[in-house]
Amino acid sequence: MPIEVWVNETLYPGWDQHFRMKRELARVSSAFQEILIFESYSHGRVMLLDGVVQITEADEFIYQEMLAHVPLLAHGAAKRVLIIGAGDGGVLRRVLQHKGVEKVVMVEIDGEVIRLAKEHLPAIGGDAWNDPRAEVIVGDGIDYVRKAPEGSFDVMIVDSTDPIGVGEVLFTDEFYANAARLLGPRGLLVNQCGVPFMQAEELRETSLRRGKAFPDIWAYVAAVPTYVGGFMTLGWAAKDAAMRAVGAEEIRRRAQESGILGATRYWTPEIQVSAFHLPPYIAEHLPAPAR
Ligand code: SAM
Repeated sequence: MPIEVWVNETLYPGWDQHFRMKRELARVSSAFQEILIFESYSHGRVMLLDGVVQITEADEFIYQEMLAHVPLLAHGAAKRVLIIGAGDGGVLRRVLQHKGVEKVVMVEIDGEVIRLAKEHLPAIGGDAWNDPRAEVIVGDGIDYVRKAPEGSFDVMIVDSTDPIGVGEVLFTDEFYANAARLLGPRGLLVNQCGVPFMQAEELRETSLRRGKAFPDIWAYVAAVPTYVGGFMTLGWAAKDAAMRAVGAEEIRRRAQESGILGATRYWTPEIQVSAFHLPPYIAEHLPAPAR
C-alpha cells in the first residue's frame, strides 16, 4: 500500500486545510520565501509560499477574474495597468484579455516564483508572458511605486501575500500614498485583503490606511474554496466613488466591448455588481464614512 503524503497549510494556528499530494514538483528556498509546488489529488497543481496556499489550478479562476475584471470594467477606459506581485501570471493573463489595455507593468519581488510558475503552472500565465503589451519586472513593489511618475497608470492591482514578511510593505501608508500619486484622476486600486472571518484585522487595518490616500474606500467579495474561511475580500480604493455604482447593463456593454463577455467562469456583470453588497460581519470592518 503506497504511503499517503499530505500537505498542511500553516496559516491559522487552530484550524487548517490539507491536500493529499500526488507528486512533488518543486521545493525551493528563494531569497524571500519557501516555495512548494505539487500535484494534488483534489485541486490539480497547488503552490504554497511559506506554508500558505497562494493558488490552485482548480479554483484560481475565481480570484483572478474578480481581481482583474472588476476594476477594469468599473473604470471603463483603463489603458495603463500596474500589477504588484501576482508572480503566477494569472492576473497578468486576465488583464491582457481586455482589448483596450495598451500597457501592463507587473512587479514581482521573487523571480523564482515566476520561473517555477512558468515551468510547473504553465496554464495559469499562459501566453501572457510573451504579450508585447506586458513588461515584467523582478523587484520590490515599494521601490517601483516610489519611482513611478505621477498619473502614469489608470488601474493598480495588488495580488500579494499577506501583510507579513516581504508582503508587509505593500500594506503601508507610504505604499498607498505613492499609489494615489502614480494613479490618474480616475485612479483605482484593488488589493487582496484576506478572509475577514479569520483575518478581520487585515481588512480593517488596510482600509484605514487606504482611507488616508483615497476618497472612496470599500471592498468586494469572492468565494475562493482554498482561501478557507468563507468570503475573500478584495479591497477597493478609488478617486471616484461613481465607479463602484456602475449598473450591470453598462458593465455588460463594457465587457462586450473589451472582449471578455462569455470568456469567464465566475465573473459576470451581475456578480460584479452584487459583490459590493457586503454582509454586516464584513462591512463593520470598513471605515465608518464608507458604510
Ligand atoms: N493570491 C494569493 C493570495 O491572495 O495570497 C497571492 C498570490 S501571488 C503568488 C503573491 C505574490 O506576491 C508572491 O509571488 C510574492 O513573491 C509577491 N510579493 C510579496 N511581497 C512583494 C513585494 N514587496 N513586491 C512585489 N511582490 C511581492
